[in-house]
Amino acid sequence: SDARLSDYERISVLGHGNGGTVYKARHRRSAQPLALKLFAAGDLSAAREAEILMLVADAPHVVRLHAVIPSASAIAAGEAPAALALELMPGGSLAGLLHRLGRPMGERPIAAVARQALLGLAALHALRVVHRDLKPSNLLLGADGEVKIADFGAGKVLRRRLDPCASYVGTAAYMSPERFDPEAYSGDYDPYAADVWSLGVAILELYLGHFPLLPEGQRPDWAALMCAICFGEAPEPPAAASKEFRDFVARCLEKKAGQRASVAELLEHPFVAERDAAGAQQALAALVAEAEQGDRSSPTASRAGYN
Ligand code: ATP
Ligand code: MG
Repeated sequence: SDARLSDYERISVLGHGNGGTVYKARHRRSAQPLALKLFAAGDLSAAREAEILMLVADAPHVVRLHAVIPSASAIAAGEAPAALALELMPGGSLAGLLHRLGRPMGERPIAAVARQALLGLAALHALRVVHRDLKPSNLLLGADGEVKIADFGAGKVLRRRLDPCASYVGTAAYMSPERFDPEAYSGDYDPYAADVWSLGVAILELYLGHFPLLPEGQRPDWAALMCAICFGEAPEPPAAASKEFRDFVARCLEKKAGQRASVAELLEHPFVAERDAAGAQQALAALVAEAEQGDRSSPTASRAGYN
């Protein structure tokens, strides 16, 4: 396409990440609101993210790509793009929601997150795409409790089904045991199973209100994480949680990748039962509305740029 950065008016900052900064923006000619993800010059994850988003363009529960914006010098040279124009997700990320709520989420809204993330993962995996960086800040909220998977800067298209992809991309904290230490787990390597582990960690984080693999407040340094993930017991929800939720998380956080539930199996799990999907999504929408109310009564709380 011939999109240019000057076609977009930046309105505010939505979030920062390793890749760069994401702005709320508006396409000047059409007045369409968008999210504009700006990358540092030459950032290779920009090209990877653009390639994958084009490949998965019609997948449900995946953020849409509107335009790839090349850098001025890159147009001829085929270098990494400077920015991506993305579908604007008005509810922000699940990490942001948790932060603005200031308390953990209940099982019902979490079931809506889990079900929609699984539907997104099923579509990605069917296209041989692994995400490799699932976490609350990469799950975004649309209107009415809708959830979509975002941030494909660590993603990979598998050319062969068992292409090894244990490289240390993505966020170490959500990495599965077999990605940390592929040699110890070489017998049952399944690249898709790593996304299921990350989803399990993310979902347990929403329930507990803090990252589940380390004591609350401890900074996640590499050594501590490696120890917790590879040598520790898989974390589990407290006894007060429902049997369905406890079992769902246990099936995601099976340390042996070969024994972990597949996305298809999890979509059949009673915790994310289809008959309850609409109600669960309404419960999630209600939480989003509550967090927005909180923002209006304390205008500075929402400006922290938390993702
Ligand atoms: P990281 O490396 O930390 O995972 P990143 O640099 O790859 O992040 P993203 O994860 O794509 O960038 O975006 C960073 C944050 O910006 C998200 O957590 C979210 O809060 C916000 N954001 C990203 N895309 C959108 C969008 N389409 N709509 C609304 N907010 C968004
Ligand atoms: Mg991110």
